[in-house]
Amino acid sequence: MSGLTLEHITKTYEDGFTAVDDISLSIEPGSFVVLVGPSGCGKSTTLRMIAGLETITSGTLKIGDQIVNKLRPKDRDIAMVFQNYALYPHLSVGENMGFSLRMSGVPKGARFERVQHAAQMLGLETILNKKPGQLSGGQRQRVALGRAIVREPKVFLFDEPLSNLDPDRRVTTRAEIRRIVRELGTTTVYVTHDHEEAMALGDLVVVMNEGKIEQAGTPDEIYSNPKTKFVGRFLGSPKMNLIECDAQLREGAIVLSSSQHQGITISLDAKSNPGFTKNTVTLGVRPQHIYLDASHQNSPQLGTGRVLHIEQLGFAQDYRVEVGGLTLLVRETQSTPRRIGDECRVSISSEHLHLF
Ligand code: ATP
Repeated sequence: MSGLTLEHITKTYEDGFTAVDDISLSIEPGSFVVLVGPSGCGKSTTLRMIAGLETITSGTLKIGDQIVNKLRPKDRDIAMVFQNYALYPHLSVGENMGFSLRMSGVPKGARFERVQHAAQMLGLETILNKKPGQLSGGQRQRVALGRAIVREPKVFLFDEPLSNLDPDRRVTTRAEIRRIVRELGTTTVYVTHDHEEAMALGDLVVVMNEGKIEQAGTPDEIYSNPKTKFVGRFLGSPKMNLIECDAQLREGAIVLSSSQHQGITISLDAKSNPGFTKNTVTLGVRPQHIYLDASHQNSPQLGTGRVLHIEQLGFAQDYRVEVGGLTLLVRETQSTPRRIGDECRVSISSEHLHLF
């Protein structure tokens, strides 16, 4: 098993645009790493540099202990699964899966065994003789995955492999990918723009923005302790509320008062935010950590709010609530019947606040 090391990797395209800007990342052997971020943040460029499909402008890329910057793609022992998996239409499923092995001169018997084994893992045994045109989108994607698996590479690279599938199929296929990769124990880098997919799949989730790494950590770490506003907003649905505040340290408390909106003052225990010295701060609070009922008297109070908009989701209700001139997104899971225009006491959970 090999890990991957990216040291100060930069990619500047010929037109002078820097798509990846000095990123460093250490990927443990056998771990499943997800690069996630909005369109254009540089995740595919990073993956393509790892694959050798794009030159590296500066920095060092290692697979295991070997520097591979100048190594051709076919010599890197990497298998890549793309969004647009091109299967050979005239070859059967089995032949498609064994194609790269045939090209690299693997004898027929060994080829057959490896294809059978991958087909078993993927539940494709019964369709090995079918042609790609006779398969569903999900089956075709599994064949593309099978093609990568039979190569037994050091590293798997996935570039948005599920985007062509419908939402249900995406969820089942991603679970399948995770199960199979876990069974194989192969080091994997997976690119997606979908934060839920990233959280569901990654041992390590790397959030990228404008060519840089904003934060890398386990799904729990980056969700519970986002280091930047960008990460706080990017992960989680509905999105985190951000409130710009002035901050003062007073008698062991951090007193935040919203500079944009009247009447909002929040006092936090300074001990839970050691080293806090800022004069202005952005307070981040997720919609499910804002309360609209009066029972949270010990939580920081924002005042009396008014319901502006309701979205009924069945398992929860999302509200837009105006309080002190501020509009907040709130999610409630218990079914307190509320109507537009209703007044409510708005408070926030002091345990789930984020200061940026
Ligand atoms: P998406 O999810 O849309 O695929 P991404 O995060 O994978 O986005 P990249 O494909 O890595 O983004 O592209 C990063 C940036 O580099 C984008 O702004 C893109 O326009 C730019 N870019 C990509 N290829 C080239 C190229 N050949 N020449 C110049 N700029 C490029």
